[in-house]
Amino acid sequence: MPEVDYQAVLNEITTEVKPLLTTGKVADYIPALAEIDADQFSIAIHTTSGETYCAGDCTARFTIQSVSKVMTLTLALQRYGDELWQRVGKEPSGTAFNSLTQLEFEQGIPRNPFINAGAIVTCDALYSRLSAPIHSMLESFRQLSGNSSVVIDKKVANSEYEFRHRNAAMGHLMKSFGNFNNEVDDVLWAYFNFCAIELNCIELAKAYNFLANQGIANSSGDRVLSARQNKQLNSLLFTSGLYDAAGDFGYRVGMPGKSGVSGTVLAVLPNKFTVAVWAPGLNSFGNSVAGIAALERLSQKLDISIF
Ligand code: GLU
Repeated sequence: MPEVDYQAVLNEITTEVKPLLTTGKVADYIPALAEIDADQFSIAIHTTSGETYCAGDCTARFTIQSVSKVMTLTLALQRYGDELWQRVGKEPSGTAFNSLTQLEFEQGIPRNPFINAGAIVTCDALYSRLSAPIHSMLESFRQLSGNSSVVIDKKVANSEYEFRHRNAAMGHLMKSFGNFNNEVDDVLWAYFNFCAIELNCIELAKAYNFLANQGIANSSGDRVLSARQNKQLNSLLFTSGLYDAAGDFGYRVGMPGKSGVSGTVLAVLPNKFTVAVWAPGLNSFGNSVAGIAALERLSQKLDISIF
């Protein structure tokens, strides 16, 4: 038995945040996401010693959206190491996830790998080194989550691709500055498929558990990132994982995190656990209202933070 009753804490949080579920607004930039019912919630913890706790609708799967950007960066760091930082920065953007303006001023080098432009250029880098990037990404999630039948929601991927204009503009702008090597549409197709990978909270917390475990997947013992890269990735998540609300998230939750427009949020407590939460209603920054409230409560109830 762990010293802390994680299950009781998660149950309590699930009840407490219920009134918040309908206060946010689901993402509506593509029809496939606009249809989702906001009144849904789940939260799961996966500890570095391999225990799992979950509350809410634990079997519900959702597309992980921008939480996939963490795996895109992981796979790119495995292949490029520090060379990757010639193409993407490490600074918080202070702008929305899909902002284009900084790209123009900063010569086509996105501020960080977690805003769309940064994830798309990281995806371009990965595209150059993988013969089947979508398959490789899917396999990484399958292996790390322990579910060999993880799939992509093709309806969401197709809908993203159909309405890709803004993301395509970023790709073309970066190409005009010489910071893009493949066909923009090909890279975007891979990027949207990564975003449309479907997991439940337990699988998501498991898949990213290496972030809490010094870069090692606790399920297999395999090293995913070096300890140094793992520290760097967590640091970037803390400063940039929640777009222009990264400061507020850090202040309230005290852990590195990554959000996605499906209402997913992942947070990392180094050497202890990863926690994944899903609640589709978003605030004006595109982050889950109930998801962030749940993580704030978790951090208060367990008296945890990285500081
Ligand atoms: N698929 C979304 C996009 O590229 C991801 C954005 C997000 O989750 O923040 O627009």
